Amino acid sequence: MLKKRILVTGGSGFVGSHLCERLLHDGHEVLCVDNFFTGSKHNIAHLLGEPFFELLRHDITFPLYVEVDEIYNLACPASPVHYQFDPVQTTKTSVMGAINMLGLAKRLKVKIFQASTSEVYGDPEVHPQPESYRGSVNPIGPRACYDEGKRCAETLFFDYYRQHKLKIKVARIFNTYGPRMHPNDGRVVSNFIIQALQNQPITIYGDGQQTRSFCYVDDLVEGFVRLMEKTPDTFTGPMNLGNPGEFTMLELAQQVIDLTGSRSEIVFKPLPADDPRQRQPDIALARKEINWEPQVKLRDGLLSTISYFDNLLRSSR
Ligand code: NAD
Ligand code: UDP
Ligand code: UDP
Repeated sequence: MLKKRILVTGGSGFVGSHLCERLLHDGHEVLCVDNFFTGSKHNIAHLLGEPFFELLRHDITFPLYVEVDEIYNLACPASPVHYQFDPVQTTKTSVMGAINMLGLAKRLKVKIFQASTSEVYGDPEVHPQPESYRGSVNPIGPRACYDEGKRCAETLFFDYYRQHKLKIKVARIFNTYGPRMHPNDGRVVSNFIIQALQNQPITIYGDGQQTRSFCYVDDLVEGFVRLMEKTPDTFTGPMNLGNPGEFTMLELAQQVIDLTGSRSEIVFKPLPADDPRQRQPDIALARKEINWEPQVKLRDGLLSTISYFDNLLRSSR
């Protein structure tokens, strides 16, 4: 195998840190670029001693001049709590960050991967969403800084592809969970696990019959690497990556209680406005093009996530 120097932007975040680990494990050299807005040195502390891992504190809204063989562009806050904290910076990161990373890829003539999102589909009228669905996004709402930023980044990727013949790979990522997800970004998996570990009430919003499908982070990273390595240069995506296995929030709460042996009770809170009843990826394209589908069972993924949060809570006591 050819050893490559690979740039990962957002490499100290939740998904990025797992990607850095995977690429190092595959024998590559990794340059992790991050401004630590939502990322943490804790996520990559175990990699700092590795001879082929390098960390650079940098904000990708500014130009970056480095020499690498491949780029994975993940830098961007991902949860509503974080991306709405400074919405202008969120759009800048997606749009100006994409321009800078595409400019870098153009100068170096290297392949570039974009971490896009299921949020480009907005509040969808089609279930599940195939890649051909164009989405329904409110351009002036509070989520627009993220959704429209990511949509514009996709536009830039496809224009660099058409105009400058760049090799691009665009993945549309659906809800993902696993160790190193943020403890306080309000997502259901982290909320339920932290509540259960502290024997506090588990907060279900609404009646708990709404469904979601969460992909374990290792499965997602496998999808990234296959999309990048296993598809011909002419294949650009966009490609949905996510877990089609749906479960209700009530089922999730019960499973988290069982796996943690918690004494928590379940309490019901009001459902937030515009909370979708259902979200599920259509992964037919990923199955066909990269022979990919999630392998990790919810139970196993939850167990390793629970163990991560258990350690985190113990060390913060
Ligand atoms: P994260 O917040 O843990 O990671 C994002 C990283 O980017 C952080 O380390 C942050 O410090 C860094 N960053 C933010 N702005 C930056 C900037 N201007 N310059 C340099 N670094 C910057 O989020 P994540 O869950 O790991 O998400 C990674 C990528 O995947 C994001 O692009 C996100 O939009 C996408 N995504 C994630 C999910 C999910 O469920 N986690 C779903 C869809 C898409
Ligand atoms: N850029 C960068 N690193 C590079 C090359 C370019 O950060 O190695 C940035 C540069 O600042 C520019 C952007 O990428 O603003 C887009 O570059 P491109 O060559 O596409 O456009 P131009 O320089 O003509 O505006
Ligand atoms: N949710 C819940 N309790 C919580 C946090 C979230 O019941 O403590 C619900 C939320 O209303 C939604 C689902 O869980 O129906 C998934 O929420 P999350 O924010 O994780 O993801 P998203 O809604 O963006 O898919």
